[in-house]
Amino acid sequence: MHSHHSHSGDYSAHGADPLNAVIDQVINLNFHTYCLTEHIPRIESKFIYPEELALGDDSAEIIANLETSFKKFMSHAQEIKARYADRPEVRTKFIIGTEIESCNMVHIEYAKRVMMEHRNVLKFCVGSVHHVNGIPIDFDQEQWYNSLRSLNDNLKDFLLSYFQSQYEMLTRIKPLVVGHFDLFKLFLPNDMLVDRETGQCYKETGVTVDSLDPISEWPEVYDAAVRNLQFIDSYGGAIEINTSALRKGLEEPYPGRTLCDLVKKHCGSRFVLSDDAHGVAQVGVCYDKAKRYIVDVLQLEYICYLEECQPPQTGLSIQKLPISQFVSDPFWTNF
Ligand SMILES: [Zn+2]
Ligand SMILES: [Zn+2]
Repeated sequence: MHSHHSHSGDYSAHGADPLNAVIDQVINLNFHTYCLTEHIPRIESKFIYPEELALGDDSAEIIANLETSFKKFMSHAQEIKARYADRPEVRTKFIIGTEIESCNMVHIEYAKRVMMEHRNVLKFCVGSVHHVNGIPIDFDQEQWYNSLRSLNDNLKDFLLSYFQSQYEMLTRIKPLVVGHFDLFKLFLPNDMLVDRETGQCYKETGVTVDSLDPISEWPEVYDAAVRNLQFIDSYGGAIEINTSALRKGLEEPYPGRTLCDLVKKHCGSRFVLSDDAHGVAQVGVCYDKAKRYIVDVLQLEYICYLEECQPPQTGLSIQKLPISQFVSDPFWTNF
């Protein structure tokens, strides 16, 4: 089995365990491919998370520490890769990458530079959106509401802004893996009232969010999602099925059914699997549910995974694993 997106407590302020402990669990669960993808540092003080404030006395020190920590991650990840390269009893292949955010252009340009400077180490990136209008949407409910408020409490505009940021990141970075495609749904309250026509959210009138499908409700939103998927298809990128939504209590992983159907139609059905683990307990978390989603709900013919090319060739290729082989992988004896 595979995961194309992971973190640890060593290099992520909201991670739980040391990277070595995470890796022990990966080996224990007999993963086929596991990608290490810590965040590229955010280099502007306005994007420092409250949990990162302990990293220094002022924002300059915090940012310098985030940068140092990322460098340490790159050497640590290389050590791990080397450690298991000549251990034939361990089948896990490790691939080193990074997760890039779409906070703003400064971050995106910085990320591009880091990727280029360290292209011998960082083989790919997971391209993600964690902010709408510069405000985090996956940190807590309050920030999510702040972000919606910054778009005048209009859900349609909020979604359009999300997909616009994603598009800007996609066109500049062309990430091989696109992270948690519909992260906006994490704190989207089911009982929030929305005007179906305009997308305006009200306290007393409208329909509840759970009675509509945010992607297909508004043609502009639908078109923006399709545009993004078609762009990803144009350079051969893949969409991750990310189980962190399941461990956080949502009914579907990222992305949900409607978007997955669009990935089948517009993006070559190129799905890869990710646990987005931040600690030992999250390695392979909810993979049994993801398997049912992949096999029974989406009825995929294959699942993709990244593989490093053999020298003298360099870089990564996207491989397709037929679903019959996916379901018979020895990994599933863990469940
Ligand atoms: Zn993320
Ligand atoms: Zn992540």
